[in-house]
Amino acid sequence: MVSFCTRERGLVQAVAQGIGKPGSSLAPAVELFTHSTLFLAEARGADRLTQCRVIEPFYALRRDMARYGYAAVACELIVRTTEPGQLVPGMFEMLVSYLRAMEATEHPRVLSWAFELAYLELSGIGPVIDRCPACGKVGPGGVYVASHGGTLCPNCAPGDPSALVISPGTARTIGAMRCFDPDAIARLRLADPTRHQVQRLIRDHIRYHLDLNLKSEQFVEGVGRWRPPPRRPRVEEDASGGVSDDE
Ligand SMILES: [Zn+2]
Repeated sequence: MVSFCTRERGLVQAVAQGIGKPGSSLAPAVELFTHSTLFLAEARGADRLTQCRVIEPFYALRRDMARYGYAAVACELIVRTTEPGQLVPGMFEMLVSYLRAMEATEHPRVLSWAFELAYLELSGIGPVIDRCPACGKVGPGGVYVASHGGTLCPNCAPGDPSALVISPGTARTIGAMRCFDPDAIARLRLADPTRHQVQRLIRDHIRYHLDLNLKSEQFVEGVGRWRPPPRRPRVEEDASGGVSDDE
């Protein structure tokens, strides 16, 4: 059983028989992140994949661990928040343009945040960042409170020192990111405080409003932290913390 994100029918789950056999004509379309034309035989229970024609294989996404992770973030978000047959207009086109841009971008993290923000917006649950969701006061940014779904103005915000403050600049950057124009996103440069605010807002918002912790996000964070193991040193510390010569 394979899940496909389709233009006409939203998420489709179909049986792809014999894909493990050598020379299977269906195997290329079942590779992760592949853009194909599918021929499905409709059946009660689950459709059956009968033929396919690959349009864009997006090989580069399967060769690079980080890009693989970022591509998976978008797919996992769709698969875990969409019911089979549920059509979200624009979702398919946005996913294809995301995968295409992800092959070439020098800033995959920013592109993936933009996708997540745009997807939330498309699903009608994007964070409110241009006005206060409690009193309606217009103005970018404020104190993000997940249960309010956006950034509260100073009058409505709780005095919690650990609260996430979204600066007006970050709010404008988020506004630009969620329009999801890959060329415009490629020109964005996010300073460290902005990156931190964007990342935490997306994580908190998805956790609260979709009740999700994306496994692919954890994978991406793990890849980002990974460093090659240090070469075995000539001297080793013993259990008491002292140093002894290697035998
Ligand atoms: Zn307010």
